[in-house]
Parts: sequence; structure tokens; C-alpha cells
Amino acid sequence: MNEQQIKKIIRNVPDFPKKGIQFKDLTTAFLKAECNQWFEEKLTEHYKELGITKICGIESRGFIIAPLVANKLGVGFVPVRKKGKLPADTIEESYSKEYGIDTIEIHKDAITENDVVMIHDDLLATGGTMLAAIHLMKKAGVKKIYTSFLVELDGLKGRDILQNEAEVFSLIHY
Ligand code: AMP
Repeated sequence: MNEQQIKKIIRNVPDFPKKGIQFKDLTTAFLKAECNQWFEEKLTEHYKELGITKICGIESRGFIIAPLVANKLGVGFVPVRKKGKLPADTIEESYSKEYGIDTIEIHKDAITENDVVMIHDDLLATGGTMLAAIHLMKKAGVKKIYTSFLVELDGLKGRDILQNEAEVFSLIHY
């Protein structure tokens, strides 16, 4: 597997969820073990020497590959969830979306001040979702923050708003 082969497998769905959006449907890649193994290996290779202590996945498409990498690195997995889903005490962060405000949360006891975290999501578009996740980790007081994506839409320049706050690494670029 390589970037070009995976790009042929990822399905582009025009005008979803609304007109003008080119939706990158990764479920066609997740269907294939070779693609999942490639994602897992590439991310593990990149992060294995960086002293990561927790891998955080953003709901819901960040929950697919992040736990594979956490297992490979031998560290725990932290779900970053939409508000109201986590049962115990949480820390939250709100951010503006195109239509209104969204809030994400983690369990208060999931992260400590000694953690070096890698936050993962499937795709980087404008960067708003990941920026909120970075701010959430800063509220939790972690030592260092890395971010990773399977796909980055370069034209939307999401990287520009993230890279002052955390290292950004993506496997596939459009
Ligand atoms: P953003 O906050 O703009 O970076 O959007 C990132 C989130 O929206 C990710 O969780 C993606 O799953 C989803 N997303 C945004 N744009 C697309 C797209 N063109 N194709 C697939 N998913 C997208």
C-alpha cells in the first residue's frame, strides 16, 4: 500500500452532506485490512520515539484507527466525545461550527499533567474540531500535544490554525 493506492480506494462523494462539499468517504478504506494496517504502521512509525503516553480519538471517525495505534505503542486510549455522552465528571470545550456551537468533552480523570498526548481524527478540513480538542487538552494541563490525521485537505489550510499550538501530521493529502 502507498498514498496513491489508498487515494484510489477512498470514495469521493460530491455534494454530501450538502452542495459544494467533496466528502472523502474513508469507509471504503476501512473495509480493507491492508489499508488499516498501512494507517496503523505509518502512524506508529511516526510516533514511536516521541514519548506518547495517551492516544485521544475524536468522535466518531477518530475512534477507528486511534485505538490500533494506542495498542501498538502500548498506551491507553481516551475518547473525545460530543457533550452529554460521558457518564463521569468531564472537562469541556465549545467551538463555533457553521451552524451554531458544538461542545466536546473528556473525562476529568482520563488525562494527567504528565501526559504527552497524540490527538487523532480521520480528516483535517478547516481545523476547527481539532483546535477545540487541543484547547481541551491544554485545559487538562498536558505536557505536550501532537495531532494526526489520515487525510488532510490542503486547500482549506486547517494546518495554519493548528501548528502554532501542536505538531500536525497527516498521511494523505488532497
Ligand atoms: P474541520 O473541523 O473543518 O477540520 O472538520 C473536520 C471534521 O469534519 C472531521 O471529523 C471530518 O470527519 C469531518 N469532515 C469535514 N470535511 C470533510 C470532508 N470533505 N470529507 C469527510 N469528512 C469531512
